[in-house]
Amino acid sequence: MQKSLLFIYLFISSITAFSQKTLLHCGQLIDVKNQSVLKEMTIITDGAKIVDVQKGYIKPSETDKVVDLTKLTVMPGLIDMHVHIESETGPANYLNGFTWNVSDYAFQSVVFAQKTLMSGFTAVRDLGGTGANISLRNAINKGWITGPRVYTAGKSIATTGGHADPTNNYRRDLMGDPGPKEGVVNGVEDCAKAVRQRYKEGSDLIKITATGGVLSMAKDGSGAQFTEAEVKAIVETAKDYGFKVAAHAHGAEGMKRAVLAGVNSIEHGTYMSEEVMDLMKQKGAYLVPTIIAGKSSADSAKKPGYYPEIVRAKALVVGNYIQATFAKAYKRGVKIAFGTDAGVYAHGKNWLEFVYMTEAGMPILEAIKTATVNAADLLGDDNIGSIEKDKLADIIAVEGDPVKDVTSMGRVKFVMKNGVVEKPFTAAQK
Ligand SMILES: [Zn+2]
Repeated sequence: MQKSLLFIYLFISSITAFSQKTLLHCGQLIDVKNQSVLKEMTIITDGAKIVDVQKGYIKPSETDKVVDLTKLTVMPGLIDMHVHIESETGPANYLNGFTWNVSDYAFQSVVFAQKTLMSGFTAVRDLGGTGANISLRNAINKGWITGPRVYTAGKSIATTGGHADPTNNYRRDLMGDPGPKEGVVNGVEDCAKAVRQRYKEGSDLIKITATGGVLSMAKDGSGAQFTEAEVKAIVETAKDYGFKVAAHAHGAEGMKRAVLAGVNSIEHGTYMSEEVMDLMKQKGAYLVPTIIAGKSSADSAKKPGYYPEIVRAKALVVGNYIQATFAKAYKRGVKIAFGTDAGVYAHGKNWLEFVYMTEAGMPILEAIKTATVNAADLLGDDNIGSIEKDKLADIIAVEGDPVKDVTSMGRVKFVMKNGVVEKPFTAAQK
């Protein structure tokens, strides 16, 4: 008799433990879809999901947990659509390519992933690294380490001598002849092979460098680097595997070819022409501006010896255009998704992009929408990006009111990812 009572007790308590809900009492809650701020709201989560959002501070049942965020402004977890989670800017970076193993990048990426999550970014799109970014994503998904949700391109794809050719400007005997496996392509067959290789390795999407770039050891920072036929072959093959395609581009010609071929986003967009803006609107392509990357690389270029001379010259010029182009594209109605190129500047400062976006004329609530609703749309993941019933519980809270003071985006006090509190709002902070 006693034994069976104990059994029933254990059975009931396991059920109640399973259905324990968390009630988040929110002083302010940003409704990202409607770009409005709601007062005194309760978000109810159960396991990994949001099960309800209600007006007022709902009273908990005996088994429920309450998280007091009444002094904070709550919003969906932020999404950065352009990061390089494996690496971070520094004068030694060009040497690291010769002295570091992939495992060094992998361990380093763990630190950057944690910083990124703690600064309120619960999801990131990694647009190129060694491939350690794929292992990082897997380790986070398995729960071995904490970090944001990672959607990764693995290794980005370039043409020979192009922005993402990993052996640019090396000594001849070290240069070799990298091919599709290493993400270097020439001609349509290589393009198909490189995309299939990314599929084989476990990438989530494809990244190409459609034009020259700033930080590569090459002279050209903006010219087209893929033919029309090549970029079409990339996009067509990518479709077979359900991949979206992100195209790094500074110059207008390379952008035009990429947009016409059907890429889903243009990264940076520095010298975007009005013609390209209109094409992007027609095709529904997103601009991912990365204003902070332009500004911070222009700043670093002023420090003697920070970049090799070939890079310094480009960084000084390109950096200053991105914000003005973003302002023009936004006014013209091009779709915008938030992205920063984190790694080109120090990880964890991603929020500064909000400052630059608002400086350029975008209201903060709309900027937050680009980092939530729009970003989720570009990812093609409708489980994240807003605080609504049945979405995954990726929720953050900042101190202060971002509408009145954009710098409050840099004061993230609470982070929940997948229903788990990753950064608690402690009594001391209250
Ligand atoms: Zn980048």
